[in-house]
Amino acid sequence: MQHYTDFSLKNYTSFKIGGIAKNAYFPETTEEFVELLKTLESPIVLGGMSNVIISSNGIDNPIILTKKYNNFEINNEFITAQAGAMGPLVSKAAAESELSGMEFMCGFPGSIGGIVAMNAGAHGQMISDIFISAEVYDKSSKTIKTFAITDMDFSYRKSKILLGQHIVLNVKFKLNKSNKDEILNRMNKNNEFRKNKQPNLSKPNCGSVFKNPENDSAGRLLELVGAKNYCIGNAKVFENHANFIINTGNATSTDISLLMKKMYNEVKDKFGIKLKPEVRFIGKMNEVEREIWNELLNN
Ligand SMILES: Cc1cc2nc3c(=O)[nH]c(=O)nc-3n(C[C@H](O)[C@H](O)[C@H](O)COP(=O)(O)OP(=O)(O)OC[C@H]3O[C@@H](n4cnc5c(N)ncnc54)[C@H](O)[C@@H]3O)c2cc1C
Repeated sequence: MQHYTDFSLKNYTSFKIGGIAKNAYFPETTEEFVELLKTLESPIVLGGMSNVIISSNGIDNPIILTKKYNNFEINNEFITAQAGAMGPLVSKAAAESELSGMEFMCGFPGSIGGIVAMNAGAHGQMISDIFISAEVYDKSSKTIKTFAITDMDFSYRKSKILLGQHIVLNVKFKLNKSNKDEILNRMNKNNEFRKNKQPNLSKPNCGSVFKNPENDSAGRLLELVGAKNYCIGNAKVFENHANFIINTGNATSTDISLLMKKMYNEVKDKFGIKLKPEVRFIGKMNEVEREIWNELLNN
């Protein structure tokens, strides 16, 4: 198994932001992954790193990157995938097998573990719609458990996994047999929609920054307060969608945090709505970041 010390995470993240991890591990088998989870002190598991702000101040906890733990197989209408399998690849293979249900994840660089943890979704589909069960590592009992959908507490961009007690090892999904051309057509439409509305990865970003408040859209509220013109350091709100932040060069985790605080404050002051972050901050916080994230997470 690959193990690196003083490992720079920056280039692995979709935001192209992040400091040094003291230790980074790349397990390739379930045995290696579980052994790390059993023996390392408070490890943090990361997949595609497409929904995180990795601290520019670095990370002391050992990092387990699931990139190389990425097999998946298709059996009739069922797909079983390891945590590190990438959403777009699995979704493409599902389409080739005439299976519908994963079209939504063809256009963003999440791993199955991250997608399930975040209950990712788009275009009217969510991962919880096709979830059957997952093998998870339980940190308290140090055992592997099988979670059914009722154990997952799925809700909008949330699951029990985000509480931090369980790590996703592999997941079983049930898809629906459908016409391949129709599936590919839906995927093309999804990609077209993104092209027009959202930044692609040539403009480093982390997807939506804030969750949508109930019956409203964070992008709409942010646009109304003029957020499309906001910029702090090398962090800039995307000109075509106010709920995306772009790293225009060497943005730091502090630039992003300050910009998020400004976006949050303006919406709170104008509409009385306290936006909740969708993106997650990982690693050591400096004083400024600690103060901002305390408010963003505890409002
Ligand atoms: C251009 C772009 C477009 C996007 N569009 C969408 C969209 O339409 N819909 C949407 O929902 N999201 C979208 N995202 C956000 C992101 O891709 C998803 O949230 C995705 O699910 C994150 O997966 P990841 O593997 O990158 O997770 P990471 O960013 O690596 O991690 C996210 C969280 O999940 C945890 N995690 C990761 N793997 C595991 C595991 N195996 N076990 C336990 N916890 C784990 C991490 O610790 C972290 O807390 C977009 C992102 C980008 C950059």
